Amino acid sequence: MQVADGKVVLIHYTLRDDAGEELDSSAGSDPLVYLHGYQNIVPGLEKELTGKAKGDKVAAVVAPEEGYGEHDPAGVQKVGRDQFPAEVPMEVGVQVFAQTPDGQQFPLWITEVTEKEVTVDGNHPLAGKTLHFDVEVVEIREATDDEKAHGHAHGPTGTEGHNH
Ligand code: ZN
Repeated sequence: MQVADGKVVLIHYTLRDDAGEELDSSAGSDPLVYLHGYQNIVPGLEKELTGKAKGDKVAAVVAPEEGYGEHDPAGVQKVGRDQFPAEVPMEVGVQVFAQTPDGQQFPLWITEVTEKEVTVDGNHPLAGKTLHFDVEVVEIREATDDEKAHGHAHGPTGTEGHNH
């Protein structure tokens, strides 16, 4: 069986940046389980994994436009510290949620903190970065009808996550 749309794929992966620094990895934990062809992983990696078989190892270099997008400077803003609820830790890397006027929530990441101001960035922390993936295909199986209807995998065997 090969990786294709409508298959559930289990992968082990390590993600590094241009400098070779590790950003994320599944090493030491369970493989990542995802439904192929449903935009559950970044497009560039999905493309590289298409057609691969169980046991294949893939080194994929994914440009920002096929990863988390280019960094949009318009997404960066400075906000007074007093605009944040007291329970939010004022630390770089902390994710906070803001609301549009029509009530939609969207995530922001704190990127700088000064005495009076906090810089928040609506771009994904990996936006603008070239992603270097080392991936091993651990398992491939047919997706269940439920998984295809939901657009995501229900765990390694397809039986998890039926409570949504
Ligand atoms: Zn589901």
